[in-house]
Amino acid sequence: MKTIIEPFRIKSVEPLRYTTREERERLLVAAGYNLFLIEAKDILIDLLTDSGTSAMSTEQWAALMRGDESYAGSESFFRMKRVVDELTGFRHMIPTHQGRAAERILFTVMCRPGHVVPNNTHFDTTRANIEFTGARAVDLPIPEAADTQARLDFKGNMDVEALERLIQETGAEHIPLAMLTVTNNSGGGQPVSMANIEAVRLVTSRYGIPFYLDACRFAENAWFIRQREPGYASWTPKQIAQKMFSLADGCTFSAKKDAFANIGGFLSTNDDRLAVQETNLLILTEGFPTYGGLAGRDLEAIAVGLQEVLEPAYLNYRIISTGYLGRHIADHGVPIVEPPGGHAIYIDAARMLPHIPRAQFPGQALAVELYRHAGIRAVEIGSVMFGDQARHELLRLAIPRRVYTQSHIDYVVEAILEVNARKEEIRGLEIAEEPPFLRHFSARFRPVSSVGQDASPAADVPGGPVR
Ligand SMILES: *Cc1c(COP(=O)(O)O)cnc(C)c1O
Repeated sequence: MKTIIEPFRIKSVEPLRYTTREERERLLVAAGYNLFLIEAKDILIDLLTDSGTSAMSTEQWAALMRGDESYAGSESFFRMKRVVDELTGFRHMIPTHQGRAAERILFTVMCRPGHVVPNNTHFDTTRANIEFTGARAVDLPIPEAADTQARLDFKGNMDVEALERLIQETGAEHIPLAMLTVTNNSGGGQPVSMANIEAVRLVTSRYGIPFYLDACRFAENAWFIRQREPGYASWTPKQIAQKMFSLADGCTFSAKKDAFANIGGFLSTNDDRLAVQETNLLILTEGFPTYGGLAGRDLEAIAVGLQEVLEPAYLNYRIISTGYLGRHIADHGVPIVEPPGGHAIYIDAARMLPHIPRAQFPGQALAVELYRHAGIRAVEIGSVMFGDQARHELLRLAIPRRVYTQSHIDYVVEAILEVNARKEEIRGLEIAEEPPFLRHFSARFRPVSSVGQDASPAADVPGGPVR
């Protein structure tokens, strides 16, 4: 059969709420053209993030009732630990309320001012938590990742030669750990090959540097390895994931992604001494080590989700359905980051809207137009989010897991193509008000008075990784 169907049927439904174009225009004005400031009830299709937005399965909902809410020694903890131990093989697993809590504990214990932490591309909370300790976060993506149009199988890989140069220049004693983010979220959701993980393992071992995975999307990454990397076609996703983890000394994990949970995460390590320090810190701010800031029922949902996510029928559908959105818009002339990644499609807004200079935020302008036209919410990843540091002007359409059906996605495709057909009419935005930090969450905008005026022409952007 050529048709790939959703590998589930629907037992509980949540109505969508429609708005009219006039209502959306009013809501946009009230929100200062910032989609973070629009209430979720006024969104028809929400592609803001794939984090914590998954639909849980019948087995997960059933497991919630088994949640053991004991303060110490909860049975739910041991059920989750058994699943994580079998999957990762790491000696210690510390539950946390979400991924960034695992990051904060790991970097507080390992990093000091003057330290450097390399990664293929740091996620924004990862970078922020490293920098908060006074250490420096360095991105080392392969050079090809700078070109949004390059179609590589493993565009999320780390530049291993650059890693070795960095170690020699910095001195291994100043590098407390190296990380690989699988899949590379800030790098377009692109996968990392097993060969690249092995190469990073080899280099870090040679210099005695601990190696950690940022494993949020480990299952999607495992599926890409199975489909694209020679030698893995007959492996199960679980076997591939086990091998990925076996090459590392520990990991951070957000259960809001590939564990189909609405909250949760964990920190794992093979280092007994670190685990003691991490557990002490956990108790200080997250909670007792057998719940780590979560309810027992959350631990149950994670335990079940971690098993379901490795089912081949799910992963096949997941990756194909993300690609379906990407191909349908790209093949009709909408420039996307190629090839489609695992959890999201990224539109290259600077390329799509060349009449809007970067100073007038083409990604944000496109986000606003997509909401105005069809009630769809996506997120700008460009100059609004990163200021002068932005390498590209992107609009990310993240796909929540098991939430939307193909007809929802067909609606999104149709809306994007309609917007694309009259894209010359889209006007840029200017900032009316902005806070000192993380302005994308709360800045307010207004449309510029006329197209292209009062702004410098679009700068020719030098190549760099997708942020
Ligand atoms: C989401 C994410 C995190 C942080 O996890 P939270 O649960 O949002 O705190 C870290 N790294 C990557 C790659 C992520 O996608």
